[in-house]
Amino acid sequence: MDELEEIRNDIDAVDGKILEALAVRRNMASRVLEAKDRKGVPLRDTLREEEVLGNLIARGRSLGLDAHFVTRVFHEIIDDAIRSQQLHLTAARNESELKRVAFQGIEGAYSHLAGQKFFDRSLDQVLFAGYPTFEQVVDAVEQGMAEFGILPVENTTAGSINEVYDLLSCAQVSIVGEEVLRIEHCLLAANEVPLANIRRILSHPQALAQCMKFLSQLPNCEAVPHIDTAMAAQKVKEDNDLTLAAIGSEDAGRRYGLAVLYRNLEDQQNNYTRFLVVARKTSPADIRIPCKTSLVMAVPHEEGALLKALSLLHEHKINLSKLESRPIPGMPFQYLFYIDFEGNTADPRISEALRKLRSATTSLKVLGCYPSQHRSRTSPRIQSMVGGAPQTAAPSESAAEPSITVSYKLVSRTSKPEDTIIHVNGVKIGGDDFVVIAGPCAVESREQILRCARHVSECGGKILRGGCFKPRTSPYSFQGLGFEGLELLAEAGREYDLPVITEVLSPADVEVVARYADILQIGARNMQNFSLLNEVGRINRPVLLKRGMMSTLDEFLNAAEYILDRGNHQVMLCERGIRTFETATRNTLDLGSIPILRRLTHLPILVDPSHAAGRREWVIPLAVAAHAVGPHGLIVEIHPEPEEALSDGTQALRFPDFAELMRRLYGA
Ligand code: PEP
Ligand code: MN
Repeated sequence: MDELEEIRNDIDAVDGKILEALAVRRNMASRVLEAKDRKGVPLRDTLREEEVLGNLIARGRSLGLDAHFVTRVFHEIIDDAIRSQQLHLTAARNESELKRVAFQGIEGAYSHLAGQKFFDRSLDQVLFAGYPTFEQVVDAVEQGMAEFGILPVENTTAGSINEVYDLLSCAQVSIVGEEVLRIEHCLLAANEVPLANIRRILSHPQALAQCMKFLSQLPNCEAVPHIDTAMAAQKVKEDNDLTLAAIGSEDAGRRYGLAVLYRNLEDQQNNYTRFLVVARKTSPADIRIPCKTSLVMAVPHEEGALLKALSLLHEHKINLSKLESRPIPGMPFQYLFYIDFEGNTADPRISEALRKLRSATTSLKVLGCYPSQHRSRTSPRIQSMVGGAPQTAAPSESAAEPSITVSYKLVSRTSKPEDTIIHVNGVKIGGDDFVVIAGPCAVESREQILRCARHVSECGGKILRGGCFKPRTSPYSFQGLGFEGLELLAEAGREYDLPVITEVLSPADVEVVARYADILQIGARNMQNFSLLNEVGRINRPVLLKRGMMSTLDEFLNAAEYILDRGNHQVMLCERGIRTFETATRNTLDLGSIPILRRLTHLPILVDPSHAAGRREWVIPLAVAAHAVGPHGLIVEIHPEPEEALSDGTQALRFPDFAELMRRLYGA
């Protein structure tokens, strides 16, 4: 046996042990369920999850494993455990007899893939059967030819699939589950051929709609609607015509022996389709499983009727996850409302709400109550990651605004006394939370931004920053990587589960930048660029507005007012230092502005100690001082090799400095 073979054998042995350990852990599902039952503990205990993750990270660190890796692995393991426990409580999917599952299309269609995902624990007991139309899928279930049917209801790019909604309102089936599938479209052809050779592309109209941008770049190519993505793939194989291609799943490509010419053709990277699983009978879900309930209702055609119905849900503290209206056939301009909400019909609070809702509606049909696919992931406690006890930020008084005449309204505490909390992919900015945003001044390369992202996540930072369009004093300085930078930033954010923030310089770029960035930054130099403020005010993306270096707080708040006035209420303010006669620091950090802003406005307030300091040695002291005056977070520049940085290298914290800062902020 040579050396490599020996090492490989050792690796195989370790992998075997990992698998055995995973199997043992999964098999604990039923035991832990029973124990939880006896103790009356809920299925999920997020406090315990936070603590477990924090401890695992600390332990992993002592073994040389990074926090992100440990978090990722254990998120999967914890998710699997929760799913196992839920499956134990769900009778229908535990039955051992053969199940027939109907879907629209042929094998390799996305509905088929969604079905495989849904039934992944019992695939050997499932027989899939494809049908040409959604209606036939529903018929198959209604008539007992299949126990389950899979129906797509909405796609995050192309929207609702109305035909399915219309079918659901009158079908004799019940929703018993949901599945969400990430849709990654591929261009499939009979052989490896240059894109220029392709003249016609076949696919389902929904798939074509999701790849509009890709298709618009091919002027000599015709997009041809086809019954189904997988059937399109099959046809490309049968015709064996090298000018023909299909858009479909990689799975369909493999199944029908096609070459994948391109991947990820979808306009939006976050392209998901939600599928419903229907059955003839309802299958009551255990009260401990977080469920969704779907219903369709009509309200009297009179003033306030919909509001009254929705208020009933609100009164019962019911959280809606979807509201869709569809025209009622044969009744012009009258609508049916489809509602999904979080809750289990077995819960008295929900059944009471439904009872009241019945009297506020002209018709109401519960389409089903089923386990929710969305299982939130718990974040590890930062304190346990950095080793120490939590420190609290300075208490903030939320007394009323002083009575001075002001020209802004919407940003004022008088118009909204409670704090605005901005939610960005599970990260909360505002209220009692304190978040740290960190990353390089500018995205410079794939390697640089990935290294930064990894370090930010490792240290408990919650959001990744990185400039792609840089407002530089000199036109000869590095101006940022532009759109290429955006791709890299988004990739790094995805890789490490961090929302990303980047600056937008021009009104014309707002829409495109918003496709990549979770938060848009308006830099100090643009605080009063009113056309830019108007433009970001029109979109639905959080904005971080930096204080102009020569601006008063009144001007700052009025700039924010522009964004709110245009309709975007998700604005956070950032103090980053102002210009004074002092030149020892790059700018003078106006810490006095923080308690004042907190009193004047309900918007979240962040501090950027990096652009105030201008030199790394002052960043940590300023950050710690800032933390003490009660902002909602910090935005800090870091760089793996500040000497090599293409912008703002002198103020970038080195990686160990950032780890130290996080210890100072969160540690004992
Ligand atoms: C930045 O955040 O990189 C930046 C340019 O900041 P400011 O607008 O505060 O100068
Ligand atoms: Mn900078």
